[in-house]
Amino acid sequence: MKNDKDFIKFLGTAGARFVMITQLRSSAGIWIKYKDTNILIDPGPGSLVNILKNRERLNPEELNAVILTHKHLDHSGDVNVMVEAMTRGGHAKKGALIAPRDAFGADGVIYKYLCQYPKEIVILKKGKFSVGDIKFDVVTRNLHGAETYGLKMDFGGKIVSFVGDTKYFRELAGFYRGTDILVLNVVFTKKRKEYDHLSIDEALELVKEIKPKRAIFTHFGMNFINQEFNLRDKEYTSSTGVKVKCAYDGMNIDL
Ligand SMILES: [Zn+2]
Ligand SMILES: [Zn+2]
Repeated sequence: MKNDKDFIKFLGTAGARFVMITQLRSSAGIWIKYKDTNILIDPGPGSLVNILKNRERLNPEELNAVILTHKHLDHSGDVNVMVEAMTRGGHAKKGALIAPRDAFGADGVIYKYLCQYPKEIVILKKGKFSVGDIKFDVVTRNLHGAETYGLKMDFGGKIVSFVGDTKYFRELAGFYRGTDILVLNVVFTKKRKEYDHLSIDEALELVKEIKPKRAIFTHFGMNFINQEFNLRDKEYTSSTGVKVKCAYDGMNIDL
């Protein structure tokens, strides 16, 4: 993979339970390659199989980090096996596993014995982080059932923000000002107050407030799945004045 193009690959675009358990969209997470660094964000169920079958021949052994934004199953189902794959079954002590504190321990999702395998275990929380060539800030804790954080990444001055699962809150836009590419997890076509997820109206509001160069929506719930996504892209782009794209499984963004 070294010296190839830098990219963000949306291996999976499934959001929440029903799209995940039916695999109408994959829940394999997001792979980023930048310079000599490879990271995998939120390996949900099917991540390892998806990666190994990928036409680009992504190699889990080349991962420098596996990052969980939070412990919910659609983000963490394959985290243990990905740690094994990153560390060649524990034989190569390398890489970092980065996750919120509540992903570890008795009610967590990461097997204790696997914590010996990576070179580093890093607790995700508000602050600054770096993995190889990739730097990122965690600017706020999200409003979501589990302990959840967004990732504001800096690729040589190009800022890509993965806001992650969250309920909408007023201060959210302020934290992500200065973003060039804004990635939002949009689960619902209509607001559903009882869930800690963004609806499309809230996502469009955030795009208007943050004013990135472009926005990518992903992590779709069941109500999204039968939509005409090309029409949606046009509608969202014209209503925000920002180029909006609904992600599909396997979509690549060049960095
Ligand atoms: Zn989720
Ligand atoms: Zn969640």
